[in-house]
Amino acid sequence: MNNNDLGIIISGLREKDVEFIENESLSLYTSIKIGGDCDVIIFPRDEHDLLFVIDLLRNNSKDYVIIGRGTNTLFKNRFINVPIISFKKGFSHIQEINSSEKKNVNLVSSTHLRIGSGVTLSQVLNYAIKNCLSGCEFFFGIPGTIGGAIKMNAGSKENVIGNIVENVDIITKDGVKLNIEKKDLKFSYRNFGVDVDNENYFITGATLSLVGSDRPNILKNIKIFKKRKSSQPLGRHSLGCIFKNPSDISAGKIIEEIGFKGFSSGNASISDKHANFIINKGGACAEDVLELIESIQKTVLLRKGITLSTEIKMI
Ligand SMILES: Cc1cc2nc3c(=O)[nH]c(=O)nc-3n(C[C@H](O)[C@H](O)[C@H](O)COP(=O)(O)OP(=O)(O)OC[C@H]3O[C@@H](n4cnc5c(N)ncnc54)[C@H](O)[C@@H]3O)c2cc1C
Repeated sequence: MNNNDLGIIISGLREKDVEFIENESLSLYTSIKIGGDCDVIIFPRDEHDLLFVIDLLRNNSKDYVIIGRGTNTLFKNRFINVPIISFKKGFSHIQEINSSEKKNVNLVSSTHLRIGSGVTLSQVLNYAIKNCLSGCEFFFGIPGTIGGAIKMNAGSKENVIGNIVENVDIITKDGVKLNIEKKDLKFSYRNFGVDVDNENYFITGATLSLVGSDRPNILKNIKIFKKRKSSQPLGRHSLGCIFKNPSDISAGKIIEEIGFKGFSSGNASISDKHANFIINKGGACAEDVLELIESIQKTVLLRKGITLSTEIKMI
C-alpha cells in the first residue's frame, strides 16, 4: 500500500467515524504478544462500518489481514503495510431465537443463538450457563472469537464448533452479504471453507444450535474440559497448540517423546507443562518461535518419520 492509498483510507475512516489506530504494534493484538507494527488497524463496529471499509479498501489498498483475538495467529516481527481489520471491538450481539420450550428440560428443545463474530467463546459459554443452554461446554478455555473459532473449526477431541453451527453470515471481499446454511459449510479438522470466489471473506456472525438443560448438568460437563485444560499452560503468553495432531496420536506426546519439553530458542520455549505449546517468556520474537517450530518438525520427521503441520496462522 503506498502513502497515497494510506492517506485516502485514513481520511475516509475519519470522515465516517470508523475507529482505527495508525502505526500500532500487533504484539498488543495477539495472545503470544509478538508482532511488528502495522500501518493501520481498523475496528469496524457493525456491518455498516465493515461495508464502508470494504469499499474504501477495494478502491485503495486491495489487500488486508483479518484478525479476531489473535489467539491462533503469529505475526512476524516486520512492518505490515496492509490494513489489519480487527473484530475485537464490534459484532458483539448475542440474540436468542425460538426459545419457547427450553425451560422444560424434559423436552429436548433446540435453541438457536445468533452471535456476532466478535463475541468471545467465553462470553457465549457464560451466556449458555446463565440461560441453561447446553452444547458449547467445550468452549471452556478456548480464548478466541466466534469468527476465529469458525475459521479454525475450534474445539476439542469431543466436539468442534462446526457440529453446532446452523449457518454463517459472510461478507465477501466485494461487499456481498451471504448467509450460508449448514449443508454448504465445509468444516474439517481445524479448517473451514465456503464456496466463494475469494478466500479473504469476513465472517460477521453465525447461528449456533444449543439445547435446554439444567445448570448443574452444564457445570458438570464443563468440569471435564476444565480438568483437560489443567494440563495446559493457560496463564502464559501462547497461541494454544502449535501443531495439528496426526491422525491417531497427539502432537504434544510426540514432541515430549523426542525430548523437546522445556527446550528454548531466544525468549521462546516449549512449555514444560504441554509440549505442543510454545511460550513467550518475555521479549520473544517471531523468529524464536519459528526456529522452535522448524527444529521440532525436522527432528520429528527424522526420528519418527512423521510430518507435523502447523495449526496456527502465520502472517
Ligand atoms: C491458551 C490457548 C488455548 C487454546 N485452546 C484451544 C483449544 O482447546 N481448541 C482449539 O481449537 N483452539 C484452541 N486455541 C486456539 C484459538 O483460541 C482458536 O483457534 C480460536 O478459535 C481462534 O480465534 P481468534 O479470534 O483468536 O482467531 P485469530 O487468531 O484472530 O484468527 C485465526 C484465523 O481466523 C481468521 N479470522 C478471525 N476472525 C475472522 C472473521 N471474523 N472473519 C474471517 N476470518 C477471521 C484469521 O484471519 C485467521 O486466519 C487456544 C489458544 C490459546 C492461546
